[in-house]
Amino acid sequence: MNIEHLPRFSLAEFPTPIHTLSSFSSAGDGPTVLMKRDDLTSLGMGGNKTRKLEFLLGEALDQGCDTLVTAGGIQSNHCRLTAAAARKAGLKCHLVLNGTPPEAPNGNILLDRIFGAEIHFCQRQNRDETLYRVAEELSQKGRRPYVIPVGGSNSIGAVGYVNAMLELETQMDQMKITPDAIVFATSSGGTQAGLALGAKITGFKGQILGMSIDQTKTGNEPFPPILTKIANDTSLRIEAGIQMDESDFSLNCDYLGAGYAMPGDLEFNAIRNLALNEGILLGPVYTARAMGGMMDLIQKGYFTKHQTILFWHTGGTPELFAWADQCCRTWK
Ligand SMILES: *Cc1c(COP(=O)(O)O)cnc(C)c1O
Repeated sequence: MNIEHLPRFSLAEFPTPIHTLSSFSSAGDGPTVLMKRDDLTSLGMGGNKTRKLEFLLGEALDQGCDTLVTAGGIQSNHCRLTAAAARKAGLKCHLVLNGTPPEAPNGNILLDRIFGAEIHFCQRQNRDETLYRVAEELSQKGRRPYVIPVGGSNSIGAVGYVNAMLELETQMDQMKITPDAIVFATSSGGTQAGLALGAKITGFKGQILGMSIDQTKTGNEPFPPILTKIANDTSLRIEAGIQMDESDFSLNCDYLGAGYAMPGDLEFNAIRNLALNEGILLGPVYTARAMGGMMDLIQKGYFTKHQTILFWHTGGTPELFAWADQCCRTWK
């Protein structure tokens, strides 16, 4: 394996801490729950995209690019962190956001503005097309755009999560912990592909369980082949000599609720539970859905008393401010 030779631009301090969530352990029959705090990556309010962007910016700078271009939903954490990373690296940033411009920008889109990104609005079905058109227009103006796919999920971004698994291995040794499962929110696939490949490389024996935010196993664009492709491309890039197949990915698709960025009781109750018991915040779109799902699995006895679960907090807390009304209504 060879990660050291890849260009990388430092964006945050690592390792991120691992905390024990004592309220779970004191709840009686449940497992011990640890939390890996990738919400605390130090750039621009934190989140999992930071690890991917270190390698993506490394390549952008290596290629002499001067502008980052990427896409996502209005409340995309990936877009907010790309805008922040661009500033740190002295690059310009254009964001293609699907949805209607809000009257009063809040949450991530407020931060996109503060980080000075240029925003192009589009419809969901035209998102990829708009992304490449914006890049093309920049090229025609003599700029050197670097296009980052949605979520930063390709074989470059995923290296960040292979590396994260190596980081976790060291922490597990130091803390003498051996989680039976790692649980996290999964959506565009780079995080899960990187973690699953990293688990093979390090020989981690536990389950790597992606809690789907919006992906399914069947349908038009089934998720397992996407995960497999990202992981295998990443394996080639870092010369890991590992071939992954669909059976290497555990995916729970039982908590999709009303759809992407449509949080409901599951999410808002998980947010309040963690806030009141641990003083830790989750985001309604990703981490609260994954945590709500994990709590339900614990309730159903899927994880048991003598097990240790590591919940990998992937960030997204700025989303909270965009759902303020619904938060308050749910808890009234
Ligand atoms: C993007 C994101 C995820 C999902 O990560 P993928 O690599 O896209 O699967 C999870 N949590 C948060 C907060 C995110 O912003």
